[in-house]
Amino acid sequence: MSDTQPTPAQTPAQPSRRALLGTGAAAAAGLAVGAADGSRAQAAPGRPGARGADPSTEGWPDGPGRPLRPQRADAELRALLREVDPRRIQATVERLAAFGTRHTLSSQTDPQRGIGAARDWIAEQMRGYAARSGGRMTVSVPSYVQQPASRIPTPTVISNVVARLEGSTDPGRVYVVSGHYDSRATDVMDFTSDAPGADDDASGVAVAMELARIMATRRPAATIVFAAVAGEEQGLYGAAFLARQLKEEGADVQAMFTDDIVGSSRADDGEVDATSVRLFVEGLPRTEDAQRRATRLSIGGENDSPTRQLGRFVTEVATREVTGMQVRLVHRLDRYLRGGDHRAFLDAGFPAARFTEPAEDFAHQHQDVRVVDGQQYGDLPRFCDWDYIAGVARVNAATLWSLAQAPGVPLDVTIDTTDLTNNTTLTWRAGTGEAAGYEVVWRPTAEPLWQHVVPVGDVSRTTLDLSKDNVVLGVRAVGPRGHRSPAVFPFPG
Ligand SMILES: [Zn+2]
Repeated sequence: MSDTQPTPAQTPAQPSRRALLGTGAAAAAGLAVGAADGSRAQAAPGRPGARGADPSTEGWPDGPGRPLRPQRADAELRALLREVDPRRIQATVERLAAFGTRHTLSSQTDPQRGIGAARDWIAEQMRGYAARSGGRMTVSVPSYVQQPASRIPTPTVISNVVARLEGSTDPGRVYVVSGHYDSRATDVMDFTSDAPGADDDASGVAVAMELARIMATRRPAATIVFAAVAGEEQGLYGAAFLARQLKEEGADVQAMFTDDIVGSSRADDGEVDATSVRLFVEGLPRTEDAQRRATRLSIGGENDSPTRQLGRFVTEVATREVTGMQVRLVHRLDRYLRGGDHRAFLDAGFPAARFTEPAEDFAHQHQDVRVVDGQQYGDLPRFCDWDYIAGVARVNAATLWSLAQAPGVPLDVTIDTTDLTNNTTLTWRAGTGEAAGYEVVWRPTAEPLWQHVVPVGDVSRTTLDLSKDNVVLGVRAVGPRGHRSPAVFPFPG
């Protein structure tokens, strides 16, 4: 890093300063990271900003950089995506459903029926994947005794199954993907009735397991944790335990994704959408202190939490071209009246989001298995769509691989507000992982996704001829092979 080296952007103003900035920045970048052509963004058809034809933002404000395009999938990612196997996913979901019930309060010792048998089977499968990892993947079944609490009437052992693939160069940086292997019937305290939980959430467990299987033979730069957690239906107990453990070990968890109810493409009205998956991303971080929240609100940062940056990142790496799926961002913590394991990670201060199928059929979740007036109720495997779950697995794989291969997010990203100016000066520190350079991304404040990107080189400070008053800015790191980190929203300093 050349902290003291002035970038071209810091040279005194000249008549054609803005035009020079672009080429200077591109030259400074010296990166094989795409068309750093330095041209000013044009309101050309096809660029993100043109899609809505919203007169309040279209083509305005003008500024440096080029239109932001989705990241290209590297050859290794394309290869691993081809290994996602819908038949194996089907076998996993059917096996999990065959344990009868996986209720958190069900038997932990019966070898055939109950959550204990499911736990042991998942661990055995994961150990099989780990055996092919050359020692890089380890499987553990951490547990604790949950004392009586909401929906837990007696002391209950909560066990997670955790496969951890150690990062090859940046092991302290961690990404988590999980599904919950507990299930429920109509009555959340009923631990004896059948609760096949195929969609909710054997589907999510199958995604985490399929990714563990495929990635076990790979060497991501950062660590990936593939987890099947318990206690979700009783109150997110397993996920909270996993988040707590990671926090206590000092892990730098930069993203967590729960896949929960990702099994079906068919809505309750029969409509099928086999190519959409929703991603729920919260707004204001729930753990941010009052002072930082006040600052965030005063600078229009309410749509730029770390979790919202993750959402944007997913749309850039898990595109339809790469995964066959369209990620539908929902700017909301979760669906109404519902919760999920990402919340436990958000409560621990980690960025986290939830993948869920496009439209749920409530006759097939949280329901006793029964037929009423000719309609089958219950969360049965027959209502799952194996190709659809494979698509969701590809979205997760593209996301986790792209995160783990990229550098970590830049740190202490700061926007200079010491004087009134119509340009923008940003500073930051390198995060973990190998960064070859940095990019500033920006968009009009009323737009949801990043629209423009300005390569600025391997620096830790840059000045753009762009008024911070009219746009939202972010800084992201670029790895030596072009993998970008999620962007970080700057705070004044
Ligand atoms: Zn669930």
